[in-house]
Amino acid sequence: MDLHFNQSLVLGYHSGSQISRVLTEDWMERNMFCPVCGAPVLEHYEANKPVADFFCDDCKSDFELKSKESKTAVIGHKIADGAYGTMIERITSLRNPHLFVMTYTNWTVNNLLIIPKFFFVPDIIEKRPPLKETARRAGWVGCNIEIGNIPDSGKIFIIRNSQQEDKSKVVDLYQRTLNLRTSKIDSRGWLLDVLRCVEKIPNKEFCLDEMYAFTDELQQKHPDNNFVPDKIRQQLQYLRDKGFIKFTSRGHYQKLF
Ligand SMILES: [Zn+2]
Repeated sequence: MDLHFNQSLVLGYHSGSQISRVLTEDWMERNMFCPVCGAPVLEHYEANKPVADFFCDDCKSDFELKSKESKTAVIGHKIADGAYGTMIERITSLRNPHLFVMTYTNWTVNNLLIIPKFFFVPDIIEKRPPLKETARRAGWVGCNIEIGNIPDSGKIFIIRNSQQEDKSKVVDLYQRTLNLRTSKIDSRGWLLDVLRCVEKIPNKEFCLDEMYAFTDELQQKHPDNNFVPDKIRQQLQYLRDKGFIKFTSRGHYQKLF
């Protein structure tokens, strides 16, 4: 994989956002395989298709690309996306594309990761203030994706610090996250929240009391639920059934990731 952009494509361009879009999309088209099925190339949708930027002709997966000029991966940050309402509608109807997040400097890719679509919940979408009266699109409401609120298991690196990860490893990691798919947005939220709590515990082995320490935090996120400890135990069972943790003895668990 050559990590450099083809700068000859933007001779005569002046808009920074346009230059960045042309160069990053061209790079993806020339270099990126499908992280879902491993097909060697991705196809580019016609410009301004509202749904996604790329698709895989083999497995029909859709992908959106967000890029940012930055030396480090933006996994703890937020990135700007399109209209807030459209985003929430796509997530709640489970029709959002997978998301590629790229960072680059000096027209060279530094980091590229894929966030599978089932890691998206309304909770990670932040509403931006409406554009001012004086703006061309006055009143329009955009959104930010809070990448930092997505569990680490949902951030799969393809390029990390300018080093390419093994393609088969990327596809394997994606396949593993497939187990976290849920058919309801509410259960998706609980599962990902509890997975994030498990990830926050530094040790591989942990016990139920360490999980109960997150009760207040989870209660704030789910104010309508009066049985948070029950919910924690139930989600730990799901994570066990999905192969992310192992039950070692009563109230004791081990991470398998
Ligand atoms: Zn594919």
